[in-house]
This record gives sequence, C-alpha cells and structure tokens, in this order.
Amino acid sequence: MNREEMFSRVTARTDPWDMLVVGGGATGVGIAVDAASRGYDILLLEQSDFGKGTSSRSTKLIHGGVRYLQQGNISLVMEALRERGILRNNAPHLVHDLAFVVPNYDWWEAPFYGIGLKVYDMLAGRYGFGASKMISDKETLQKIPTIKKKGLRGGVIYYDGQFDDARLLINLVRTASRQGAALLNYARVTGLNRDGDGYLEGVVFEDIETGREHGVRAKVVINATGPFTDMIRRLDDPAAAPMITPSHGIHLVLDKSFLPGASAIMVPHTEDGRAIFAIPYLGVTLVGTTDTPILESTLEPRPMDAEIDFLLETAGTYLEKVPSRDDILSVFTGIRPLVKSGDAKGTAALSRDHTIHISPSGLLTIAGGKWTTYRQMAKITVNHALTLAGLESRPCATKQLNIHGYHKTPEKFGDLALYGSDAPAIQDLMRIDHMRRERLHPDLPARVGEVIWAVRFEAARTVEDFLARRTRSLLLNARAAIEAAPKVAALMAKELGQGGEWEKAQVESFRELSKLYLPG
Ligand SMILES: Cc1cc2nc3c(=O)[nH]c(=O)nc-3n(C[C@H](O)[C@H](O)[C@H](O)COP(=O)(O)OP(=O)(O)OC[C@H]3O[C@@H](n4cnc5c(N)ncnc54)[C@H](O)[C@@H]3O)c2cc1C
Repeated sequence: MNREEMFSRVTARTDPWDMLVVGGGATGVGIAVDAASRGYDILLLEQSDFGKGTSSRSTKLIHGGVRYLQQGNISLVMEALRERGILRNNAPHLVHDLAFVVPNYDWWEAPFYGIGLKVYDMLAGRYGFGASKMISDKETLQKIPTIKKKGLRGGVIYYDGQFDDARLLINLVRTASRQGAALLNYARVTGLNRDGDGYLEGVVFEDIETGREHGVRAKVVINATGPFTDMIRRLDDPAAAPMITPSHGIHLVLDKSFLPGASAIMVPHTEDGRAIFAIPYLGVTLVGTTDTPILESTLEPRPMDAEIDFLLETAGTYLEKVPSRDDILSVFTGIRPLVKSGDAKGTAALSRDHTIHISPSGLLTIAGGKWTTYRQMAKITVNHALTLAGLESRPCATKQLNIHGYHKTPEKFGDLALYGSDAPAIQDLMRIDHMRRERLHPDLPARVGEVIWAVRFEAARTVEDFLARRTRSLLLNARAAIEAAPKVAALMAKELGQGGEWEKAQVESFRELSKLYLPG
C-alpha cells in the first residue's frame, strides 16, 4: 500500500473502471474487497484518511445488538450474529470474544434479561460465542469488582465480539489492494461526470495533497459516504431529498482502574432508553455511547457538554468509583449515518438496517447498516452494481476470504498482536535499530518502528493518521498523544521526504485537532 504507486496507477488509466466507490469507511472498503475478490476492476476514493469518518469511532463491538432484539428487529439481529461469526473466522487476529455482564438491581431484571439473552444465544445458532447465564451477586462482583454494590442482586452474563475498528479497516484496505483494487486516500470527489444520455460515466476528484483535479471514468459509481451520503446525492441531483438523519455518539475513555477485570458492563436501558456499555479496551475503559440527533455531518464532530455529563452520571450510577471530568483521558465522537424513517421517535428508535438507492442517472447509494454487517452490505451492493454496469455476474467470494493479517494465535506477538501475521516483519524492522523498539511516550503502547511501518505499508500520510487510526494513541490518551506528536512528525518527515515546515505544520494541526478530544 503505497500512495504514490496507487496514484500513478489511477492517473495512468484511460479505460473505465468496472466500479468506482466514493468513501473509504467500512462500507466502501468492504465493497472494494468484495468487488476485487470477484475479479472486477475497482477504484476507491477517500477524501481524507481511510476510516477518518464513523468507522474509526465506533464502540468497537462486533455484535448482534441486544438492543435491536428489544426493538423486535429479529432479522437484523440474526444477520449480524451470523456476520459476527464469519468475521471472527476470517480475522481471528482482530475479533475476539468479550464477556458482558448486565447487572441486576430490580427483582424483574434477572428473568427479563436472562430470557432475552437466551433468545440472543438461540438466534446465533452455530455462530454462537458462548451460552449466556444468570449469575449471583458474588459472581457479578468477581467479574466486575468496581460495580456498585448497594442493591446488587446478581447479573446476567453473555458473550459478543470486540475488535479494533481502524485496524480492521486498514487490514481490509490491504486485503482489497492484494486482490487488485486501487484505493486512494486524500482524494475528494468534487463532481460527477455524465454521458450524452445523462448517465454517470465517472467522477472528478481533487488530490488533497496537491490541490489538483483529475477525472476518472467508471461503468458504475457507488456512493458509500456514510454521514455524507446526501452531499454526494446532491452532486448528482441538487434537488435530491435527504436520506440520512445524522446522530452523534460519543465515548469517554477512562483509566483501567474503573473496570479492572476482563468483562464489560452492559446497561440495556438507561433513563432515556439508551443502551450504555463500559468496556475494557487496549488497557483503558471505554464508556459509551450517546445518540443525539444533529443537523449536519462534519468530519471532526465535537462532543457536547450534555453528552459528557450524561455518560459521567450514568457511569457513576453503576460504578463504586464515580468518574469526573478530570478522569477523562480522551473523548471521541462519531456520527451514525441513520436512514430516515417517517414515523421514528428520536434517532435511538431509527433502524440500523442498510438501504440501497439507485438514482435515475445510475448513482448507486448504500447507506446505514453497522460495522458488523459490512460484508453482507458489500455483497448486496456489488450484486446491484454489476447489473447496473452490465458486467458478467460472478459469485461473492468473501465468506471464506481471510482478511490481511490473518493469524490464529496472534497473542504470541505480545503488544504487536493486533498486527497478526504482519507482526514478525515489524519485529524485523525493529531489530535493525534498537531505537525503533522504543515507545513514543511512556503512557502509550506505540513504538517508533510502528511509525515507519505505517508510512511504508499502511498509507499513513499525516501525524493524525498514525496517532488516531494506525495506532489508537489519540483515543487512549489525548494528552500523551499531543506530547508524542513532534517525535512522530520527525520520523514521518524522514520517511516521506518532507522538511521542517511540514513537520511544524503537522504538529500544530494535530495539536488543534486534539483539543476536540479533551473536554474543558
Ligand atoms: C458512536 C457509534 C458507535 C457505533 N458502534 C458500533 C459498534 O460497536 N458495532 C457496529 O457494528 N457498528 C457500530 N456503529 C456503526 C458503524 O460504525 C457505522 O455503521 C459504520 O462505521 C459506517 O461506515 P461508513 O463507511 O458507511 O461511513 P464512514 O466510516 O463515515 O465512511 C464514509 C467515508 O466517506 C468519505 N467521504 C465523504 N465524502 C467524500 C467525498 N466527497 N469524496 C471521497 N470520500 C468522501 C468520508 O471521509 C468517510 O471516511 C457505531 C456508530 C457510531 C456513530
């Protein structure tokens, strides 16, 4: 994955691509993997970094969605549970089981959630992750030593999947690339081109690094821009009705001491009807999420004070140690690309199903869905796209396609486990010079060698790409990430052949961005 090579390949091509995807999140990259593995020529253009949008800001669960079961959306839950099992098989280095405890304080909660979670187990069928069961107050405390003891009656334990969203995404990018797809980050689609009959025949994109515009041709254009879906639809038809109701979701990152065990807490129903999780993740505790309707999608959404207060307050209801603003290591915010529905009351009630729409000019839009179901969404989208493009039909090949980095026992690579089968090559790169083994900051797990790896093999172009997505430094500890930024900038400048001005500008822009991750 080298951007210069990709770029030359894209600009040198005069024949139309079989398919062109706009958007490098889970939805778009999933489509690139699917189409390339069926042997179609596919180009993906992402306006910023791969995963810059919602796909690096999720709760990091590969799950059926207990909440959607409560809403009665059985088909979505069954599909997601099946996809959960397939993804664990195809990316065992990134998806692992996690035990969730639903703590019970009222007499009715144990039978109510106990039965509901048995149904969840049943719906998973052969893709099950482990049987749920009711546990006593003592067992609940063993699993979650920090849970509020007063009034605790017991709990229900069940299993779901956990993953690192940005790392899965970059591994999917590499899978697609290995299968022959061309994927370009920092390439913003600014216009759509039509033939004499008004059908789309390609796009214009701006190379963000040079500011130059380029035209590319394609037999079909796929809009997979998540929260930005309607902006691309309006490039096609300025009068297009909005499809998306965007909704904010924030997560607080707290120290591990708030949740020192290996199990997560799941509160299925808070006062305002949301599900809240507290999850052990890469040595910290994630608390989330909120569901707040917003008017407009932006690439770097800002957490609202009321959302932070709500999560602190709710966490304080269930934890012995009540968290305060001073305990927050980082806050990150994502935007759900929820598909509009006339009768839904609030965004929490909007379906997480996906929708496909084809405009009169042939623009294929895929919106909604979940990270967990990206593979199924990709399969359906490519089936539609090949018909629109008049391509020969070939069967989907992703059900048993190993994702880049596939490794059955990645734990043996220690803190490089998330890299899976790439880990030995990174270890070799670190062996060349002992300085490369050094941590970038005492409070962050990332090492110097990982910066070099990310630039050479994972298309990292900016300090933010490395600290926010190739590693999760910004999410794990925003202050430490700011302190590490100058070192990362110096290492990247050397790899990318950039000078002092670039380094300075990168550090400054990362410092500005980080303010959004540190509540005042
Ligand atoms: C708070 C929160 C928690 C969630 N938790 C979970 C979870 O635990 N499990 C789960 O399964 N799902 C979860 N989801 C849902 C999941 O994250 C999303 O469904 C998924 O990431 C959406 O991916 P996407 O590719 O459609 O959108 P995005 O990831 O936003 O990707 C769209 C991309 O399009 C690009 N783009 C936009 N305009 C242009 C243009 N003009 N040219 C080129 N590129 C462009 C953007 O830069 C962006 O990168 C969560 C969502 C939120 C908000």
